[in-house]
Order: sequence, then structure tokens, then C-alpha cells
Amino acid sequence: MAAAAAANGGEGDVRRGGGFDVIVVGAGIMGSCAAYAASSRGARVLLLERFDLLHHRGSSHGESRTIRATYPQAHYPPMVRLAARLWDDAQRDAGYRVLTPTPHLDLGPRGDAALRASIENGGATEVASAAAESWPWSGVFRLPEGWTAATSELGGVMKATKAVAMFQSLAAKNGAAMRDRTEVVDVTKQGEGSMVVKTSSGEEFHGGKCIITVGAWASKLLKSVAGVDLPVQPLHTLICYWKVRPGHEHELTPEAGFPTFASYGDTYIYSTPSMEFPGLIKVATHGGPPCDPDSRDWSGGGAGLVEPVARWIDEFMPGHVDTAGGPVIRQWCMYSMTPDEDYIIDFVGGEFGKDVVVGAGFSGHGFKMGPAVGRILAEMAMDGEARTAAEAGVELRHFRIARFEGNPEGNLAENKVKSWVLP
Ligand SMILES: Cc1cc2nc3c(=O)[nH]c(=O)nc-3n(C[C@H](O)[C@H](O)[C@H](O)COP(=O)(O)OP(=O)(O)OC[C@H]3O[C@@H](n4cnc5c(N)ncnc54)[C@H](O)[C@@H]3O)c2cc1C
Repeated sequence: MAAAAAANGGEGDVRRGGGFDVIVVGAGIMGSCAAYAASSRGARVLLLERFDLLHHRGSSHGESRTIRATYPQAHYPPMVRLAARLWDDAQRDAGYRVLTPTPHLDLGPRGDAALRASIENGGATEVASAAAESWPWSGVFRLPEGWTAATSELGGVMKATKAVAMFQSLAAKNGAAMRDRTEVVDVTKQGEGSMVVKTSSGEEFHGGKCIITVGAWASKLLKSVAGVDLPVQPLHTLICYWKVRPGHEHELTPEAGFPTFASYGDTYIYSTPSMEFPGLIKVATHGGPPCDPDSRDWSGGGAGLVEPVARWIDEFMPGHVDTAGGPVIRQWCMYSMTPDEDYIIDFVGGEFGKDVVVGAGFSGHGFKMGPAVGRILAEMAMDGEARTAAEAGVELRHFRIARFEGNPEGNLAENKVKSWVLP
């Protein structure tokens, strides 16, 4: 991009409403990472956010997210490894850490297809069968007959809100301009490489390229802006923190070597070690009821998302976590599910050609990939292709919008996943 300027955008450009190389719409983890990646290459970047920066109404807020390489789909581990490298680079750039490395543990029925594929794809080591007396953390978990456990080294916990703030700060340090409480309502093309982004207050911003990363609002915005149907279903999800039983508080911490873990089976359970609230541990289930991101029920107790987790804890972690009084802390969040749980990373096409790129449908497993997705989106917008993805062995064909044409389930048949959309 020849115009990738020596002088970056900055607040002056926001006031004049113009002159950006890349305008990023939506400042969750994906948009913030894209703004960082584009501004790192000298592009004049504007990042627009509908609500306050670091708000709680999307998908990227809160205390923790996990990183792991054990994926049932073989196309994700290369992206995890790329992301892990870019997390390190960004932390070095920032001068502080947002990611605490831990081991990772996968549990599940020995013959479960998704678990078997995850172990293979993630290079995990199977350490247990129900009969085995001793394996790492065998004192914490009780596995039913026929279950197994596998450990892997690539695991860890990202401080979510802190990480989003880090990428926004790094982008700002590179000269990117940011504007929150600014809702984008339209994107139009004036000519090749000339986009106009319009807001609900009537402002217009001019940019060469546009990256749309609006999370659970992706279907709505892409439909109204480009007439494109993205099959992205928002889910209302719940994070639960439970009280660790007295005497076990230290045992379940990263300092004691406790892992992030996932449990396959009828209910998919995930957890991070006890760290953000001493004496509490996050254990939650993957999924939730469909929701409209503009009218969510914040008052509901989420019983359907709590009771299966309590039952799982009582069965699998007996004596370690107290479920009697329910979760001590509940935090709502949103997933943006595609039918096949694969991301959408693509040019919008049509009249926009390669001038508008969309990143959406991260299906409850996107946070860890933020720096990789941000780099890929920035390269697609600025260069028309993502060289970093190709070099890292990340196959973007899995993430094309066209996979849904005449095929509403997309890659579902080849991915070993099932629907976690709960009633
Ligand atoms: C409970 C929970 C647990 C999770 N755990 C993990 C995990 O352990 N590991 C993992 O890898 N992933 C995890 N995820 C998934 C991960 O958090 C998401 O995939 C990721 O945060 C999605 O980021 P995003 O930037 O696409 O969306 P968002 O964070 O929602 O960002 C989109 C932004 O766009 C803004 N926006 C919307 N419309 C407009 C508009 N018109 N104009 C301007 N701005 C707009 C929104 O306000 C929002 O800030 C979890 C998610 C949840 C909810």
C-alpha cells in the first residue's frame, strides 16, 4: 500500500473525518489486533467502536480466556502456533504480560472422535485410563470407566480485557486513531480503494480499505451494508466461578502447575486454573441459548448453563470444589456461532471486491487467535492476500463465506464438532 504513510492518522484526522488507509469497525479482540497489525506496518488506521472501549456487551471482555492447540479440526493448530508467537511479540512490544502459560489437559471418553482428533492434531500425550493409578492431577479428577486424559504443553490463560487494552494501546502507540461510542451504520465504495464509513450520528470517515470485526452483530451489519447473509448465530453464554473447598486453594492455581482443561462428552466443560479471584475457579460449559445482541436478558439466572456444570464438578472433581451454593460469580458473554464452528475470514466481495474484509463467527474459540486473525485481516486489507497465513501453514479456505452457498452446514461434515446451541 503506497499510501501507507510516514505520518499516521491521529486525532486530527478523526476530526477532519478523513484520510485513513484502513478503517476497522468494532474494537473487540479481533478489531483491536487488526488495528495493531495494520498500524505496525505504518498504515494510517482508524478504529471505531459502537460502545465504550472495553465494554461488557460483546465477546472479548472479562478476566480470562484459554489457549490450547488440541483441536478436533486439523486446520487450527497451525493458527494457534502462529498466534502464540504473535502473543509473545505483542507482549514484548508492550513491556508487560497478559498471557500466563500453563499445561493443558483434555478429558473424555476414550473413543470420542473429537477427543481422539484433538489429541492427534494437538500433539497431546495420553496419560491416563480409568485404571491408571497415577497421572498428573489424578488426585483432583475422578474419571469414569472408559475415560482418558491427555496433557499438552501449549496451554495458558489470557487476561481478556487487559489483552484487548494492550492491543489498543499498542495501536495508539503506532499512531492509530480510536473513536468509541461511534456506531457504524453503512459502508459504501466511492471508487477502487476509496471507502466511506458512515455512523449513526451522520459522520463520515474516508479510508482506502475497511475491516469489519463486529462480533455478534456481523449478520445484521453485513446484511444491511452489503446484502450478504452470514450464518452467524449469537448465543447468550455464562461464565461461572465456583468456590474451591478449603485446603485445595493452592492446588488448583497456575503456581502449583494446575492446567487449563476441557472435558469432552455429553456436556463440553472448560476451565481455567484459580487465579483471578483467589479461592475461586472458573468452570463453565460451552454453549448457550440463541440471543439478539441488542436485547439480551441480563436478569436470567442461566440455570440451564449452571446445573450441568455443577453435576459435572461433583462427579469429576469430588471434594475439591463446592457446588452447593451455586456459582459465586456469574458473568454473561456472547458466542457468535457458525453452523460448522469455523471462523469467517474473507473479502466481502461483490461491489466491494477486496476493499472490505470481514472477520466474524469465531464460535466461542477465537480469543486465543486474536493476534493471528488481526495480522491476517490486516494483510488481506492492505495486500489483497495474507502472506503470514500462507507462511505459517494456515489454510484460509476453511473460512470462506462461499462454503455456505447451497450448503447451509458449511464444513460441518468434515469437522468433528456438534451443535452447542442450547434451548
Ligand atoms: C464465555 C466465553 C468464553 C470464551 N472462552 C474462550 C477461550 O477460552 N478461548 C478462546 O480462544 N476464545 C474464547 N471465547 C471466544 C472469544 O472470546 C471470541 O471468539 C472473541 O472475543 C470474539 O471477538 P470479536 O472481536 O469477534 O467480537 P467482540 O469482542 O464482540 O467485538 C466486536 C465489537 O464490535 C462492536 N460493534 C458491533 N457493531 C458495531 C457497529 N455497527 N459499529 C461499531 N462497532 C460495532 C461491538 O460493540 C464489539 O465491541 C470465549 C467467549 C465467551 C463469550
